[in-house]
Amino acid sequence: FSTHSFRSTWLEVDLTRLKENLKSIFTHANKKSMIAVVKADGYGHGAVEIARTLEQEGVSWFAVATLDEAIELRENGVRGDILVLGPVDHRWQREIINCGCVATVVSLAEAEHLSKTAVALDKSLRVHVKVDTGMGRFGILFEQAFSDISAMMELPGITVEGCFSHLPSADHDREFSEHQIQRMRNLRHDLEKKGVHIPFWHIANSEAVWNLSDAYGTDFTHIRPGISLYGVASVPFANVKTLMTLKTKIVQMKRLSQGSTVSYLRTYRVTMPKEWIAVLPIGYADAVPVVGSGTYEVVIRGKRYPQVGRVCMDSMMVSLGENKEGIREGEEVEIFGGEISLLEFAQKSQRIPYEVMCGVSKRVPRIYR
Ligand code: PLP
Repeated sequence: FSTHSFRSTWLEVDLTRLKENLKSIFTHANKKSMIAVVKADGYGHGAVEIARTLEQEGVSWFAVATLDEAIELRENGVRGDILVLGPVDHRWQREIINCGCVATVVSLAEAEHLSKTAVALDKSLRVHVKVDTGMGRFGILFEQAFSDISAMMELPGITVEGCFSHLPSADHDREFSEHQIQRMRNLRHDLEKKGVHIPFWHIANSEAVWNLSDAYGTDFTHIRPGISLYGVASVPFANVKTLMTLKTKIVQMKRLSQGSTVSYLRTYRVTMPKEWIAVLPIGYADAVPVVGSGTYEVVIRGKRYPQVGRVCMDSMMVSLGENKEGIREGEEVEIFGGEISLLEFAQKSQRIPYEVMCGVSKRVPRIYR
């Protein structure tokens, strides 16, 4: 992301809050070590800045989804361990071995392939094995995990140093989550009984940190949160705050007469004799989905104003009413993150908070404070 641009639309990211959120999570999870999830460009906040800040605060493990994301962190000076959560296509196994990251292995066949590639390169690759205890996504099925992991331990060129799983419903389904946690504990004990020692074990996403203390009990060495670092949690006692504030400035104001319409498909019609409309340089190509058109509000000088008509690609319109209350072109406008919470904006745009964060496009510059 550029931090400079020639548009009056920007995303402020509060790194002080990130540090505070980190502290809250760390304290709640009994100071368990953390693998900070910074995939999807740090949930839209900018992975490099987020990882650098967390690294300064003592975090030494990061997780990303793709090899490109891992390389970006490395090239920008992040020194900690980087776990690539997603599987890497056979074509790029050399690259993952050479980049000095930690790969996720999702099957014995993949481990065998990685092993051959590493041996051919005369290198060694650190891997964490992903076990599917109930997510139904990447990973070795739990039932096969013991035998497949035992076999992996014998492969040259790879070092199995971690084992992990993911919880699909840590905030809604305690019984199922506890069953998944128990499966991982059993697996660890069974392997250890056979003399197989894997140093790192992790399963706790953000919601597990708040709701499931067994997920960071003695059988697990790390927690692996994402969204709560960025300020979202389902429980009221979680002391975390969002980091993002999306802002823009009024580029034009006009006084429309009764009967005039605003934006595509003419869904908004002026009913009062005269109505002030402010045009904002932000649209769906930036962060504001069309689906919520006409339901959003924005904040100017601490007061809410309704967004009207369809959101366009690069702009949207706001009604200031009959009397524009002294508001002028060039004034700052909050889209979300302050008076309008990220959660409220998520509801209006019919998305989950994760999507709102990841949905601020690359052309919106990030400003860190
Ligand atoms: N671990 C894995 C494998 C994930 O895919 C994610 C996010 O989706 C996380 C951890 C972090 O989850 P959350 O952001 O809910 O804390």
